[in-house]
Amino acid sequence: MPRSAFGFFKKWGEKFGLSFTFVDTTHPKNVLGALEKNTKLVWIETPTNPLLKVSDIKAISRLVQGKEILLVVDNTFATPYFQQPLKLGADLVVHSTTKYFGGHSDVIGGCAITNQKKMKEELNFYRKALGGNPSPFDCWLTQRGVKTLGLRMERHRENAKAVTQFLKKQPKVKKVYYPGFGGMVSAEFNFSLEKTKKMIGSFQIFTLAESLGGVESLVNHPASMTHGAIPKEEREKIGLTDGLIRLSVGLEDKDDLIADIDQALRKI
Ligand SMILES: *Cc1c(COP(=O)(O)O)cnc(C)c1O
Repeated sequence: MPRSAFGFFKKWGEKFGLSFTFVDTTHPKNVLGALEKNTKLVWIETPTNPLLKVSDIKAISRLVQGKEILLVVDNTFATPYFQQPLKLGADLVVHSTTKYFGGHSDVIGGCAITNQKKMKEELNFYRKALGGNPSPFDCWLTQRGVKTLGLRMERHRENAKAVTQFLKKQPKVKKVYYPGFGGMVSAEFNFSLEKTKKMIGSFQIFTLAESLGGVESLVNHPASMTHGAIPKEEREKIGLTDGLIRLSVGLEDKDDLIADIDQALRKI
């Protein structure tokens, strides 16, 4: 879950008397175990950031069915091109449109999607009352991005698959994480923090940055960037080792991307 969502639940939610339980939703039984009599909402993110773990939306939706519990899915990594949670039983889908929807790293936004009239009306009310609305120009950029979403996602997948196959053959790679769709690939190298930093500093096409989902390829180093605030011991317990990198594979020529990783690896 992104830090922003975690912080929102903890800081804002708890102020209003809400309490939260955080579990690994890749095992539906963990969700079942966390449900309480007064549970109102289950929020899942799939695939997750940065280990790209996948949860079974349909199985989780069955657990909450008939219980007046809303199921919300953060579908940012998959996009509707690969995964449509409403069809799998979710009540609400959220996206960071900053990522694949916009697709060009030039606009920040988010959206909430539902097929329930009452919820749409309620969301519209809060949107108007609280003012969390994008500007007309931001809407225009996002809509322009969406027009090529399908084409881009196909190419993201093709490139990500090629990068995954290359990485799997590298002796210096311990583990590759790729869910089989989408443009995000994570890889764990047998490298110290120093060597990992040297490698990602040697990339010429992959730019070191925290975002994802744009036409340009990006590399993120969770241990020193997105998840740097988590103590090393705790971080490693959940698989975020010093040698782990996360790639947002862009739309460049796949041979160029592979050659870039190859030359960076040769420098270590
Ligand atoms: C980036 C991201 C968010 C937050 O979106 P912003 O546009 O940065 O506010 C939420 N969920 C996921 C999965 C993300 O990758």
